Amino acid sequence: METFDSFDPGTGQVLATYPQQGADEVRAAVVRAREAAGWWREQGFAGRRRHLRAWKGVLARRIHELADLVHQENGKPHADAILEAVLAIDHIEWAAKNAPTLLGPRRVPSGLLAANQAASVEYQPLGVVGVIGPWNYPVFTPMGSLAYALAAGNSVVFKPSEFTTGIGSWLAHAWQTAVPERPDVLAVVTGLGATGAALCRAGVDKVAFTGSAATGRKVMAACAENLIPVLMECGGKDAMIVDDDADLAAAADAAIWGGMGNAGQTCIGIERVYVTDQAYDEFVAELTTQVRRVRPGSDADASYGPITMPGQLDVISRHIADALESGGRVLTGGGIDGPYVQPTILTDVPESSAAVQEETFGPTITVTRVRDAEEALERTNASSYALAGSVFSGSKERGMDLARRMRSGMTSVNSVIAFAAVPALPFGGVGDSGFGRIHGEDGLKEFTRAKAITRQRFALPTPLLTFARKPTLTDQLAKVVGLVHGRT
Ligand code: NAD
Repeated sequence: METFDSFDPGTGQVLATYPQQGADEVRAAVVRAREAAGWWREQGFAGRRRHLRAWKGVLARRIHELADLVHQENGKPHADAILEAVLAIDHIEWAAKNAPTLLGPRRVPSGLLAANQAASVEYQPLGVVGVIGPWNYPVFTPMGSLAYALAAGNSVVFKPSEFTTGIGSWLAHAWQTAVPERPDVLAVVTGLGATGAALCRAGVDKVAFTGSAATGRKVMAACAENLIPVLMECGGKDAMIVDDDADLAAAADAAIWGGMGNAGQTCIGIERVYVTDQAYDEFVAELTTQVRRVRPGSDADASYGPITMPGQLDVISRHIADALESGGRVLTGGGIDGPYVQPTILTDVPESSAAVQEETFGPTITVTRVRDAEEALERTNASSYALAGSVFSGSKERGMDLARRMRSGMTSVNSVIAFAAVPALPFGGVGDSGFGRIHGEDGLKEFTRAKAITRQRFALPTPLLTFARKPTLTDQLAKVVGLVHGRT
């Protein structure tokens, strides 16, 4: 079988070699996961919660080992990796704890016409969920699908990104340690894009995809062949709006962290900042001062690490070059040294530039002066992407109003990315950023099918749903409906 290597992006050193699993191996993994799914379903909510908590416990006890691996394979600082793992652990707990109440059987009112029926709904697992993951948050991002699909009663076959296969395998090994009686409830298949494509055609009941919109289209096309439903968590070009009365020091801090944390390789990272004319000069001065303390590197004190995927360096340098050629200016940074990109702030970049239109996925932000917050919102909403975003405003009402009208799945007011730390909130995009939701109640339901049941409690003296219905009954019914619903 062909193999592939995983690298330390800081040094280029090979860390491990993995098999490129093909259609037969992937199908076999799905068959094993289906066998395990029966057992997993039988555990019920209480049993699953116990096993998920055991898994969470392994992650929590070995968090530094996991963070070391994330630092090695993805490149981000150890401290950021800890934060990522903590968020993921929180999501496992939330999903395990809340699945019974949110998904279990629940009575619903049966209404006047069916007053003799007891009506209930419950959310049943789909069976086997295929999860295809990216490399940028190799623990947190797939966990939004893994924990929620598992808590809902599905088994999972997970294809981690080829850039972070070691981390994906580590998560599956942790599962095997926690739940040794059924390791196949969470199985990992390894490989490049072809392995992901094979997973789409391997008989899974749903595919949860996180990655670029371009790959998302291919995944949807492959899944369409067998009418397999998909969840699409794709890229973003998130904007921050800075209003006249915003706390500009806080906004600058958030723009830098939101734009440059994880070397800008964050789907919900800030890539564009729109600042009102009144706030612009002071905001840019804050930004210029604060960005001085940010530095890439692989050492313990570095603010962010190398670019994980070597090919992304070409995209970042193309966007910087295009911004400059089209009239933009570099306020700070702009340089690339090996896999490290300097913290880069670009101003006066036309909206038509690639740096404003396309996902850059590097530690760069464009800062644009606008007339007012309405113009900022108009420009924010003009993107084909619509994942998340941020609003800084001194007024609670104004901040909430702008947040509501922002075309995106998530918005933070007076902070960045805060919604990702709230497990009860749904996470997902609009437009080219995808559809479907992970996290929260919506995220649990994403991996279920609603099952409706009625149970007749007693026979009606005048039944409607029978050929034995009295001929006058529908006329009487029409009169009643006219009285109840036809008055306005
Ligand atoms: P990518 O699209 O290159 O790859 C994602 C995954 O798809 C990988 O595991 C890859 O092997 C697999 N794949 C590639 N070709 C495939 C095919 N034909 N069929 C099936 N699977 C295939 O994305 P990436 O570079 O790993 O991740 C970065 C992207 O992910 C960015 O656009 C980022 O914004 C996005 N992202 C989105 C979210 C979100 O929640 N919305 C979270 C993290 C990252």
